[in-house]
Amino acid sequence: MSDTPSLDDVLQSFVGQSSGPATRGSQPVNEPMIEHWVEAMGDYNPVYVDAAAARAAGFDGVIAPPTMLQAWIMRGLRASLDADAGRDAAQESAPSPNDQVMALLNEAGYTSVVATNCDQHYERPLVPGDHLSVTSVIDAVSEEKQTGLGTGRFLTNRLEYRDQHGDLVATMLFRILKFKPGTGGASRAAAEQPAPRPLRPRPALTQDNAFFFEGAKQHKLLIQKCSACGTLRHPPRPSCAACRSFEWEPFEASGRGTIFSFVVNHYPQVPAFDYPLVVALVELEEGTRLVANVSGITPETAHIGMAVQAGFEDFDDDLSLPVFHPATATTATTADETRID
Ligand SMILES: [Zn+2]
Repeated sequence: MSDTPSLDDVLQSFVGQSSGPATRGSQPVNEPMIEHWVEAMGDYNPVYVDAAAARAAGFDGVIAPPTMLQAWIMRGLRASLDADAGRDAAQESAPSPNDQVMALLNEAGYTSVVATNCDQHYERPLVPGDHLSVTSVIDAVSEEKQTGLGTGRFLTNRLEYRDQHGDLVATMLFRILKFKPGTGGASRAAAEQPAPRPLRPRPALTQDNAFFFEGAKQHKLLIQKCSACGTLRHPPRPSCAACRSFEWEPFEASGRGTIFSFVVNHYPQVPAFDYPLVVALVELEEGTRLVANVSGITPETAHIGMAVQAGFEDFDDDLSLPVFHPATATTATTADETRID
């Protein structure tokens, strides 16, 4: 057994110790500060600014908004910088109990901090002329706990606010969580499993092209066919280039075709796709062309004129697309097909 006390024992020994001498507000409770606060917070209860309304509500005159409590002790920026400098100097010889606890937690790896609770209890309304002082006592240091943010310990300070007569006017329990960064549930989960693959970009659906993507969901390769002259057209558009008719119907293509042209996309790489990515302009045996991915071939084996067959890939619940692959002998298209478009 070691004689070295545990971190828990050391931390518990600080509970009940004062954080230091009382801090006195630089100004007494006053109406100008109340008015600024009311404007800033948008809390227009008249008892804060209108003496008659305050008297009608049973007070002797205006009262300060209770939640302004901490404002009466805050020092302002310059005074805070001076106080910090003074504390740093004093800390080298005699750090306060609170500073010691914080240093112990930092040394133990609990280097991140977040405020978690602020519970205020008001003994009486504060009124102009009250001049507050505050003292702070270490109220509790928790055992190590697992939180969503990480493994940590809660440190609670109990602050007591007193008026110029030494009478208690309010108390506040202020709790922070000191935690070890990177040990929270979210960050652990992120470290354990790779981020989900981003979805493929969504097509921009229009009244003209929606049928194509709906067809793909049913694993049908649907192509626009002019109702007037029978010409196929793709990508979808409102009217027939051959006869100008706006009438059309979906036509289910066989999916057989040949690579009319292709590119191999190396860069820029979008996380939803695999690279190198073969993108082909496929000439369908029925006579129109469409752009699609081709799987089952490499940039080296792809060639113009290669017979391909459409398959379908369900990328996610909302997106299915035709993906061509090399045709087997039985599905290969013949070379003497006549183009309609
Ligand atoms: Zn037509």
